[in-house]
Amino acid sequence: MALIRRFFSGILPANTISHSYLHDLSAIALLLLPLTLANATAILFGHAFRLLDYSTVSTVLFQLSNMLINIYPLSFCVVAGYYLSHKTSINSAVFIIYSIALFYLVSIENGSLSAGYYLPNNPFLALISALVTFLYCTRFNLRFLEPQALDFASRLFKHVAHFFVFMISALAISKLTVKIVALFTDVIGNNGADPLTFFGGLTYQTILGLLGAIGINGHNMLFATKQQLYATTQANFAAYQAGDASLNVLSQGFYDAFTSMGGSGGSISLLLCILLFSRSRNHIMLALAATPLVIFNINEVLLFGLPIIFNPIMIVPFILVPLVSFVLTYFAITYGFVPPVESIVNWMTPPLFSGYIAMGDNIIGSLLQLVIIVIGIFIYRPFYLMFSGKYSVHLQSIEQVSSIEKSTFKSLLDNVRSATASSMNKSLAQQRLSSMMHEGELVMHYQVLQSVATEKIVSYEALLRYKDGSGKLCPPTFINDFQLLNAMPMLDRAVIEQVLKDMQKLPLSSEQRVAINISVASIGQGDFVNHLLSRLAHYEISPTWLELEITEEAIINDKMHLLGTMEKLQSEGILIAMDDFGTGYASFPHLIKYPFNKVKLDRSLLLGSTTPKGRDLYHLVAQLGSVTNCIMVAEGVETREEYDFIAECGVDVVQGYLIARPQPLADIIEKYHSA
Ligand code: C2E
Ligand code: MG
Ligand code: MG
Repeated sequence: MALIRRFFSGILPANTISHSYLHDLSAIALLLLPLTLANATAILFGHAFRLLDYSTVSTVLFQLSNMLINIYPLSFCVVAGYYLSHKTSINSAVFIIYSIALFYLVSIENGSLSAGYYLPNNPFLALISALVTFLYCTRFNLRFLEPQALDFASRLFKHVAHFFVFMISALAISKLTVKIVALFTDVIGNNGADPLTFFGGLTYQTILGLLGAIGINGHNMLFATKQQLYATTQANFAAYQAGDASLNVLSQGFYDAFTSMGGSGGSISLLLCILLFSRSRNHIMLALAATPLVIFNINEVLLFGLPIIFNPIMIVPFILVPLVSFVLTYFAITYGFVPPVESIVNWMTPPLFSGYIAMGDNIIGSLLQLVIIVIGIFIYRPFYLMFSGKYSVHLQSIEQVSSIEKSTFKSLLDNVRSATASSMNKSLAQQRLSSMMHEGELVMHYQVLQSVATEKIVSYEALLRYKDGSGKLCPPTFINDFQLLNAMPMLDRAVIEQVLKDMQKLPLSSEQRVAINISVASIGQGDFVNHLLSRLAHYEISPTWLELEITEEAIINDKMHLLGTMEKLQSEGILIAMDDFGTGYASFPHLIKYPFNKVKLDRSLLLGSTTPKGRDLYHLVAQLGSVTNCIMVAEGVETREEYDFIAECGVDVVQGYLIARPQPLADIIEKYHSA
């Protein structure tokens, strides 16, 4: 667990881990609901037709249900993979292929393939496979395999190498899981968790509850034990029918019909408790939304919506209710109040109905279930009231601040919606960039920066442009698409390559440099400095001719890393400018903390200087140069009045349309260096 936590903490901020885990599980459960509900419907009608003596229709419906049950684990793997892929920069389809490959390997090695269909049959392994894929893709930063990408060949090579390594690791993992599962089953066995004995059954049920309380379906985790239980039950039923044995008290049917009514934790009692005693409108809405599912023993909406998982108060009745139910049913059968369970009822059969069938079409089974459900309601009641009291205070404070009432269920749906929207946006961005690269090209333009004191050129800022098929130029609005696809580092590398080539054609010095805009994502990459220095060496360009512009976002995103990166770059002679100063909200402290060489005052500050207050602010900000030892640059100077104003404020360098617009390299050479 600690290892997984540490692994995750490299990827996500610690406080978001459990929150994100909760939301991911809920979203996956919700996305699979259509399949689960279709199965529940098939079973319900299957039973109805069986009781009405339409055995052919009933058989078809049970076959349909069997098929749905068989494809569930694989679907789980696909949905979990699809959902988790959006948290990485890898294409969903590739991510899912990785997950399925791992899932199959682990399932084959563990003998977890369904009999008729040869499909993997353990949803828990499906989740683990998708999670392992997620960890792998995030750790090794696997990116989109985009045919039009500038570095397609090298990416393809990387993908092939990664797939190979991943499959080798998958093989090793599959062997390892066999050992872990054996160990786990052994521990359960040694601790007396044998579901066929009274005390063993209580332990088994408690372990199921504890696992459920952290969102793990215990039936999947204790798969081997469950299979054993199933086989023993079948053998006992067969022996009973042959007249060779009496029915066991404890059996698969016993657990399915009496200890998980409404889903794990006897959730139907919780549902009724909320409907009867809750004063929170949100909780009642949630319970109503969950009702059609809980009837079929599917409790994910309640489990994650309330939530019960990771909830120290609600976990107590969640474990206690099935235990009480276990003891009551056990003694009711042992002392002959009710007959022993004589068939295995599908776990999705609704409560009352399932008791009736389990006890050989005997109404006494339904009555026993009813008693247990009512007792369960009163066990849940004090815990629920304690929990909801605390919860409603919390809700009130949220309402006071935002006056928006947001139900937990709605936030879950929002989460699923945003995951789907993010995937849509990504694929649209991908399409746009694909056709862009197909039809046109990226080119660099350069804008002059001039000293206010000497009116000499001090640098050129490299600005990216897109030239479409007809030769029309577009400003870099497409940068958003690169950001969305986590492809900024790739774009920055392409820009660096082009600018360094261009720099060979310009007479540069440490007094006349070229400035490149570098994105937050690139600065955060561990190998950024080495890459840049090796490319400079390759083109035989001195680092003292180069400047980098970074925005405040880089500072906010990556504090520790940035300081080291800046120091390394500066020790090589590269200057670093803070771009767009004045557009962020915490610019001042950052300037003192980080050793910038230049500060570029955003045009928005200049636009604000039409009022006396705005002018005072610009004056004040321009003075920062002497405090922080930075060269101050005024961006976006368009008119003579603006120029006079910034000069009066003491700004050192000016950039703007008044001096020159961004222009192609050829024009720069012709205009400034032709003599
Ligand atoms: P930036 O780094 O602040 O670049 C200055 C922007 O101001 C440029 O817009 C430039 O054309 C524009 N500008 C210059 N003088 C004036 C003026 O007098 N008036 C007005 N209204 N605008 C002026 P551009 O080229 O559209 O670039 C927008 C932003 O896109 C840049 O802002 C920079 O953040 C980003 N960008 C541009 N090229 C690159 C690149 O190669 N790599 C990366 N990572 N980002 C880039
Ligand atoms: Mg810039
Ligand atoms: Mg700027």
